[in-house]
Amino acid sequence: MEHNSDIDILISEVGPRDGLQSVKATMPTALKLQWISALAASGLREIEIGSFVSPKLLPQMADAAELVAHALTLPNLFVTALVPNFKGAQAAFEAGVHKITMPISVSEPHSLANIRRTHQQAFDEVRNVVALRNARFPEIEIEAGLSTVFGCTIQGEVPDDDTIRIALLMAELGVDEIGLADTVGYANPTQVRRLFTRLRRELGAKAGSAHFHNTRGQGLANVVAALEVGVTTLDASQGGIGGCPYAPGASGNIVTEDLVYLLESMGLRTGVDIDRLVAARQWLQQGLPGEPLYGFIPDAGVGKNFSYAKKAV
Ligand code: ZN
Repeated sequence: MEHNSDIDILISEVGPRDGLQSVKATMPTALKLQWISALAASGLREIEIGSFVSPKLLPQMADAAELVAHALTLPNLFVTALVPNFKGAQAAFEAGVHKITMPISVSEPHSLANIRRTHQQAFDEVRNVVALRNARFPEIEIEAGLSTVFGCTIQGEVPDDDTIRIALLMAELGVDEIGLADTVGYANPTQVRRLFTRLRRELGAKAGSAHFHNTRGQGLANVVAALEVGVTTLDASQGGIGGCPYAPGASGNIVTEDLVYLLESMGLRTGVDIDRLVAARQWLQQGLPGEPLYGFIPDAGVGKNFSYAKKAV
């Protein structure tokens, strides 16, 4: 999305999708609506509302269209959704999202396990989705979220060249933005610097967001590495909920509350009010009783020396 000029870093809150889809329990729709409203009211500008996927596969996401309709009424909110296939894209487009993200596993074995598609089948699906968008929904953005870029639970090591080759192909197919995701928490800062530097060099303005999981505690270190090489959109989830059902133990996106604190402390404006953000956790606690929520800032509070970043003069 176009960054508003009053923020330096766009945080894309993915809790309602990445978080809720990996939790067994289904959060009641009424509480999801309250939660999404509270997240937006804290100043978050972009929320991934859900996944347009078969409710048989992921009953937690069955209310995606209803949530999108609600999110579209909230001011200053860019509404996005994940779609695994053409059918999901069609439903998301019709629901009126501003952007869809299509996950593409750079590791082909992971692609087969996760969306049951070979690379060729996954690429054909992207081509068809772009054609549909161009024909009927030209204003909606398409992002490819390249996953298993930093390593894969099935394949192990994933060569950088594979990632860049697929990123370039996505751009060629007409995708607007290509982001890199560490689905399973394997990334380290050296790798992050190297891959995002190359992505930005090869793709220019089409180089997109960084999506990190904190599975091995490296999440915020990876964020700093991404910032150092110019990444300006970061995914995170409230309370660090989230993971990948096909990556055992991969629980937890980086925590939005801690990310806001890190960025603002470093002088980077996010537009998010930490107190209001922390207050939004109540809806998550109510909607998913007993589900562990992570984060240091909600427990420790901000430091006495903390102040929000100001526009550089
Ligand atoms: Zn994720």
